[in-house]
Amino acid sequence: MYFSKMFLPTMREVPAEAEILSHKLMLKAGMIRKLASGIYSFLPLGLRSLKKIEEIVREEMYAADAQELLMPAVLPAESYIESGRWDTFGPEMFRLKDRNNRDFCLGPTHEEIFTQTVKHSIRSYRALPLTLYQIQTKYRDEIRPRFGVMRSREFVMKDAYSFDKDEAGLDESYLKMAEAYKRIFERLGLNYTIVEASTGAMGGTGSQEFMVLSEIGEDEIVCCSECGYGANLEKASCLPANNSEIEQEELPVKKMSTPDIHTITELTEFLNCKPYQAAKTIIYNADGNLVAALVRGDREISETKLMDVLKCESLEMAEADEVINLTNAEVGFAGPVNLAARIIVDQEVALTKNLIVGANETGYHLINVNFGRDFSAEVNDIRVITEEDPCPKCKGKLQLSSAIEVGHIFKLGTKYSEALKCNYIDEEGQEQPMIMGCYGIGINRTLAAVIEQNNDENGIIWPMEIAPYQVIIVPVNVLDEKVMDIAYNMYERLRKSNIEVILDDRNERAGVKFKDADLIGIPIRINIGRKAQEGLVEFKPRRTHEALTLTVDEAIEKTMELVNSAKI
Ligand code: ATP
Ligand code: MG
Repeated sequence: MYFSKMFLPTMREVPAEAEILSHKLMLKAGMIRKLASGIYSFLPLGLRSLKKIEEIVREEMYAADAQELLMPAVLPAESYIESGRWDTFGPEMFRLKDRNNRDFCLGPTHEEIFTQTVKHSIRSYRALPLTLYQIQTKYRDEIRPRFGVMRSREFVMKDAYSFDKDEAGLDESYLKMAEAYKRIFERLGLNYTIVEASTGAMGGTGSQEFMVLSEIGEDEIVCCSECGYGANLEKASCLPANNSEIEQEELPVKKMSTPDIHTITELTEFLNCKPYQAAKTIIYNADGNLVAALVRGDREISETKLMDVLKCESLEMAEADEVINLTNAEVGFAGPVNLAARIIVDQEVALTKNLIVGANETGYHLINVNFGRDFSAEVNDIRVITEEDPCPKCKGKLQLSSAIEVGHIFKLGTKYSEALKCNYIDEEGQEQPMIMGCYGIGINRTLAAVIEQNNDENGIIWPMEIAPYQVIIVPVNVLDEKVMDIAYNMYERLRKSNIEVILDDRNERAGVKFKDADLIGIPIRINIGRKAQEGLVEFKPRRTHEALTLTVDEAIEKTMELVNSAKI
């Protein structure tokens, strides 16, 4: 491609809303343009890399025996109503009506549609296992679209769904996908880690996320450098901390006046005790029912873990009037004693003796409250892990990092097959629900994550496998005939060898051309300058900038070698 003919609208100044590097660079390098909040067009340069990621995904899906198909994006409401997600998706789902007033949505994810399709086409165990996938546009009206294509409202996802006759089959299908994902992210040169994730309301039996380590990641993960344990922060299991209070003798409950006290800090200062001696009681609305959750005063509740425990689809802090109705007290004085609600306490709360809790009476707290003696509750691990916690597997040291979720694999079990009656006939002639898994990769988000991890002050540094073009030839002076002879000659030879090459034929200063080549991140730059008279060119890899002076033949050979080994 001749640079002069390319549709490559680079930008000098990017809008202030582009906060993160990948977003800025994608705009500057003319890869994407914003159309509306969270809605982006891919321009030719961006699309080339996007398609290359899709191809890598396709190759690895093929290697894992997954078959590609393509579902519509406009989806009738019925199957989402059957699964319950027409309601639970809430405002994140883009909804529309046709001219006959029938409800549709723009597909946010396709479990229901794949399940429905398989249900109508497969009857016998002989057709299982089966893994199907598509690479398709998804729509989610995100509450906070941001970071360009990293969290957008329209994005491309590879979504795969596996159908098995039993749990053992699902384990195998899941493992095959996990292996395919590893190969994909390795080929993309990403520094990633795999963490345990929540199975949430889906009621599945296992789930892992593929996380790209990055400061701008919206997820937080913990990893153990000793045993390799990794988990999403909200899901990581916690061991209860030891503290001396555990061994204390149980004292009689006392009601204390604590006027105008609303926070744990105020409370512990007022009562002159440590935050871990108090327990916070938070009232939640879980699928319309009020429940109380308690963690120690120095801990945070993991709403994800709580949702896993409650198996609820939605969880929100209760409104003030709901709290007042339930506890007969203003917000800030709720406690577990004589509370008429389902109560979940964190394991540490159950272990701590002589707790301070709200008295369910405005202006009062109870001290010396003991689980088992003064109240009963379900005990579970519902707190958020901290960096001070030991690894739950090996008690080693944990590290907390920010990360970008690029992929998610999930053992769904029978949630959708039961809801939509996607059954098969087993060896004994019995009807059984299929056991399903689902597997997603955000293609656009992955592209942005690659840029987050591959750049320098001059721009993007593409890994060879997904570079929009592999080589850029830069004749320093387009008016010099000898220079241009070599440039055209190399350009044609490389093209004939199926190398994707740009020839920067613009009559611009060399500095301008070098800057653009660096910005758009082409892995190999071949500069043709003064030494052209001697048949020599400058060969410069984008990543190392270590220039070599080579003959034309050598430069072509070296290019072929680097492109084919994809090690750059
Ligand atoms: P997140 O927690 O970031 O919202 P999610 O749990 O909603 O992600 P999944 O439903 O598991 O995501 O979707 C599969 C993959 O699709 C994610 O791993 C991510 O790479 C991608 N993805 C999800 N939402 C978006 C979005 N708004 N923009 C771009 N990619 C997305
Ligand atoms: Mg989401």
